[in-house]
Amino acid sequence: MEYTDTDLGPRKTSAKNLAKKLIKDSKIKEAPVSLRIVIECLQTTHDLRVIAHGFSDHVSGLLMRCKQLDEEYFVIGFNENQPWCRRRFTIAHEIGHLLFGHTCNQSDDKDHNEKEADIFAAELLIPKEFLKKDFKITPKIPDLAKKYLVSQQAMGIKITTDRLI
Ligand SMILES: [Zn+2]
Repeated sequence: MEYTDTDLGPRKTSAKNLAKKLIKDSKIKEAPVSLRIVIECLQTTHDLRVIAHGFSDHVSGLLMRCKQLDEEYFVIGFNENQPWCRRRFTIAHEIGHLLFGHTCNQSDDKDHNEKEADIFAAELLIPKEFLKKDFKITPKIPDLAKKYLVSQQAMGIKITTDRLI
């Protein structure tokens, strides 16, 4: 789950582009990114349910692909015991898995898939386009983290990887 920016090459770009497209499709123009609106947008194309669950501490969330008769639907579960900014990152990360079509069976690709979902989540919650503007006004990690409803750690990493400093 930890966000690292090791070089994923073209996949990194596509993870970011996919997040950008979702922000655009959701018509979100500023921080904080509303996951409710993002999810409603996704629900126009996917049968998706998002539920809070009391997982044990080491589980942040999961994506389930379910079949009921001939209908497919998805469930994102997130750990309701974790702080809100963490829950937001988890939901965004699982949306990444959903859109990339990652499945649990691709174990050989697991690390790659996790990084891809993390890069997607970071761009979804902290779109570079928004951050560039806000960073000029308030170049302070705690203030920006509050505005974007993300952890200070996630914000710090995003500022660095987007090369704003
Ligand atoms: Zn994951």
